[in-house]
Parts: sequence; C-alpha cells; structure tokens
Amino acid sequence: MEKQLTLDEIRNFKGNYPKQLWFLFLVEMWERFCFYGMRGVLTIFMADKLLGLSLSDKDANLKYGAIQAFVYAFTFIGGIFADKVLGFKKSLMFGAVVMITGNLIIVASPQNFFYLGITLSIIGTGFFKPNISSMVGELYHEGDARRDAGFGLFYSGINIGALLGGAVCVYLGESKDFGWSYAFLSAAIVMTIGLITFLLTKKSLGPIGDSPLLHLSTGKRTTKEIMVYAGSIISIPLIFIMIKNTDYTDYFMYTIGPLAFVYFIFETFKEKEARVRKKLIAAFIFILFSIIFWAFFEQSGGSLALFAKNNLHHNLLFFNASPNIVNNTSNSLFVIIFSPILGLVWLAMAKRKIEPNTVIKFGVGFLFLALAFFTFYYTRFFADAEGLTSLNIFTLAYFVITFGELSLSPIGLSIMTKLSPKRLSGMMMGMWFLASAYGQYAAGLLGADMSSSDTNASLLVKLQGYTDGYKQLAIYALIAGIAMIVISPLIRKLMQEVK
Ligand code: GLN
Repeated sequence: MEKQLTLDEIRNFKGNYPKQLWFLFLVEMWERFCFYGMRGVLTIFMADKLLGLSLSDKDANLKYGAIQAFVYAFTFIGGIFADKVLGFKKSLMFGAVVMITGNLIIVASPQNFFYLGITLSIIGTGFFKPNISSMVGELYHEGDARRDAGFGLFYSGINIGALLGGAVCVYLGESKDFGWSYAFLSAAIVMTIGLITFLLTKKSLGPIGDSPLLHLSTGKRTTKEIMVYAGSIISIPLIFIMIKNTDYTDYFMYTIGPLAFVYFIFETFKEKEARVRKKLIAAFIFILFSIIFWAFFEQSGGSLALFAKNNLHHNLLFFNASPNIVNNTSNSLFVIIFSPILGLVWLAMAKRKIEPNTVIKFGVGFLFLALAFFTFYYTRFFADAEGLTSLNIFTLAYFVITFGELSLSPIGLSIMTKLSPKRLSGMMMGMWFLASAYGQYAAGLLGADMSSSDTNASLLVKLQGYTDGYKQLAIYALIAGIAMIVISPLIRKLMQEVK
C-alpha cells in the first residue's frame, strides 16, 4: 500500500505553492460555480411570473437576502461539527452530497421543490465552505510567509467559479431553449465534478482534515458521525419554515450572533493558555471589522445593481456594454487577474522583509473601500440632465474595491488559520463567514435606506439618493480603516508572534 504523506512532507514543499493547493483550488472553484450559479438565478427565478415563484420584486429581494444570510450563518455550525466530530474531509464530502441533492431536487420541479432544495443547499454549504478554507491553512507551517499568497491563489479559484457559475446558470435559466431546471442541473453536475475531484485527490492531503475522534473506536466514532448526519436531516423542516417566512430570518439573525458570541467566549475561556486566548480575541476583532466591510461591499448585489440598471450609460471605453453585466462580473474578473499578482507582491515583499502585517493590510482594505465608494459617489458629477452617468467611472470604482477585497478577504481566511488553535479552527472559520452573513443582512438594510421610497422618483433623484449614500459609506469606511490602523499596536500585541 502507498504510504500516507506526513504533515511535514506536505508543509516542506518547494516553490511558491504546495501542489495540494491546486487540488483544493479546483474543488472550491466547482463549489463556488454551484453556489454563485444558484445565487445568480435566485432573485430572477423567484420573481419569474410564468415559470418561477411569481413573487413581487420586493419579496424576491427580501427572500434573496434571507437565503444569503442563512447560507453564511450555517458555516458556523458546519465549522463546529467539523472540529468536534467529522473532521474537514468528511464534512466537505457530506456538504457536497447535500448540495448536489438539493440542486437535483429543484431540477425535478423548480416551482414545487425550490424551498426544499434551497434548504439542502444551505445545510450543504455550511458543511463545505468553511472547512475547505481551513484545509488550505493546514498546508502551511505556522510561520510560513507563503500562506497569504496561497490564500490569494485560492481566492482566484473562488472567483473563476463564481464568474463561470453566474454566467452559465443565468444563461441556461433565462434561455427559452433550456429553463430553470437546466440552471440547477448544471450546478448539480459541476458540484459532482468538484466532489469527484476531491475524492481523487484527498489522499494527497495526508492527515489533514482527518477525524478529530481517531482516538475512539470505529464504532463509537461512526455513531457520532451518524448522529451529525441525522441531526442535519432532522433540521431540514425547521430551516425550510424559516426561509419560507422571512419574518423568521430577523429572529434567526438576532439569535445566532449572540449565541455564537456566547459559545466563542465559552470556548475561549475554556482554553488554559493565555497566549491562545489572546490570539482568539484578536481573530474576533478581525471578524467584527469584516462585518462592516461586507455590509458595504455587498451593495453590489443590492443598491449598486439597481443603480447600474437605472443610472448608467452603456459605453465602456470604446465598447457598448450592459451595466448589469459589468456590475455582476467586473469584480470577479479583477480578482482573477490581480489576486495572484498581489499574492506574488506579498511574497516578494516578505523576502525583502517589508511585507505589511495583517492588521495594516486590513486597514488598507478599508481605505480602498472608502476610495471605491467615493468613486461611486463621484459618478454624480458626470451625470447628464436625465440622471444617467458614466459606466467608466463606475467600473473604475469596482477596480478599486477589488483591491480592498483582496487586502481583506483572502487575508482574513489566512489570519483565521494563523490565530486559531487546531481544535477550534473550523469554528473560527465558520465565525469568519458568519460575519459575512451579518454583512449581507446589514447590506440589505443599508441599500433599502438609500433607495427612494417613491417608485415614480426621477432618475436624477434616484442618482442623488444613491450617491449621497455612497458618500456616507465612503466616510464610514475611511473611519473604520483609520481606526484599525490606530489600534493596530493593540491587535498586534494580542497576535504575538503571528504576522
Ligand atoms: N467571495 C468570497 C467567497 O465567495 C467571499 C465571500 C464572503 O466571505 N462574503 O468565498
């Protein structure tokens, strides 16, 4: 029998990236295809009067927000079960199977089984998403300076999947020759490819992601695992009810955060070593800041989508382009191009010992965010009398926001893996994504606040409403960035030797 790789053999790789990173890159790419494909068709499908759920635009938007919030909130639960019972590998495989099943259920009859299928997608993503990122972190020795670059590359994979998934699923769903079933079918097929890729390559991960219960007898371990699987299946009706009725989303969001916080405190203070506790608190501060970041950033799916639809000209440089498509794709494209480049810049800086530390990178992320929203605000000075403004400036803002995202999001994944002790790494990664759930949730509220309630408002009035809002966001982002940089010595103290 082939001998299993040891952790050291994996971590002592030569070159910039370990080979296992490429496998995880591919698996996550396919999963994100499935996820963003589903996300791309969600609102249009729910609002489709003929073949969809025939919801009003407002209800479709509310439900969209609820589903997004749930998806990210379940990563917290998925992370905990991976730490305590399943290990990352089994969690990921279970999550993938549940996601595939969810999509196939919708394929059978989108109008009848949509909510059931989406419920499974929520549970599946919860088990999958945080745990694959945690495994990326395990590929590196503690102080390895190549880790951030690795997460940068991984992040490109995320965005390749997001871009392809959004394009293919929306195309299939909206096409007269295909329709919604095909959109969900393509997501299921691609997720299956992802699962097969993982099954074929998981051996190369050696002990990474193995069960935390290897010290128990196989029988005992299997019983616990079955209990987790069964518990997930039993929770289906509950989640089903919560997404069908959006009022429950609010209650859910009011509850899960405080519960997660209490659990975090409990686990942190259970920890005997002060050094470990301090690192966990530092991780928590990053998580809190990231909520603000996502609340602003996620305007892209809400107010910026409406702004793009209503208030923009159709010329981009020398071409004619749909502002909707620019709004949906430019960020992913910029990430795909610039994430590996920025990763290599970090590596080059690390070699010269001038790489900024994570807190500063985070702070800079907010400064880019502020500059981007200031640029969105600035579009108002290019508006004509009808309230239409420049798609070029709008795209430039997306270019800028991408650098904000790249300074914060892959770096955030990386820092979670640096600051968490092994026994809590799934939970902490889950918390990182739980912050995204709150970001999504707050993004909806912020966006609603910026939109004019008068449906007959002129485009010029709408433009003013949105751009005023973007200026406010720019100011808050600037304050957050400065605050982060000012308190950076304190956070670095908590982080100790971690950079
Ligand atoms: N776009 C990234 C992803 O899909 C980040 C998502 C998030 O944390 N909100 O993984």
